[in-house]
Amino acid sequence: YTGKTGTELLTGKIKKFKVHEYQSVPIVVKEEASVYDAISTMFLEDVGTLFVVDTHSNLTGVLSRKDLLRASIGNQELDAIPVHIIMTRMPNITVCHRDDLMIDAAKKLIDKQIDGLPVIKETDAGNEIVGRITKTTITKVFVELIMDEH
Ligand code: ADP
Repeated sequence: YTGKTGTELLTGKIKKFKVHEYQSVPIVVKEEASVYDAISTMFLEDVGTLFVVDTHSNLTGVLSRKDLLRASIGNQELDAIPVHIIMTRMPNITVCHRDDLMIDAAKKLIDKQIDGLPVIKETDAGNEIVGRITKTTITKVFVELIMDEH
């Protein structure tokens, strides 16, 4: 008997959750893709955040729903604007790694007030994007924890 309360046991369990156990597939677009293409991809893939990659598949930017809305307001030529003009770009991107704790990824989402984080792997060739963590991921963890109790 450990002498730990139910809450302490549950907390201990949550603190060990790793990003790689819950990350989902990242949806990416190229820097030269148009705002129109990015909006289409967002609908087709049913995601709220897109990651932008260069020709070497390295992460260079992030596109949110509001980034695309902002670019669309009063603009007829969405086919003519490449996403690299409007994206949030490196080094201003908040990232996480597959071995990070989920609790730290969740804190980043709250602190930075963003919906998603790219999971990256730093290599000699640059930042390879290997996954994504979103507010939906956190919601799933929350539900799983409660459903797994018995
Ligand atoms: P929305 O803009 O649709 O409310 P977010 O809150 O996720 O969605 O995005 C807010 C702003 O932060 C956007 O300009 C977006 O490009 C940027 N952003 C989103 N995710 C990240 C991230 N991981 N790192 C840095 N900036 C981000």
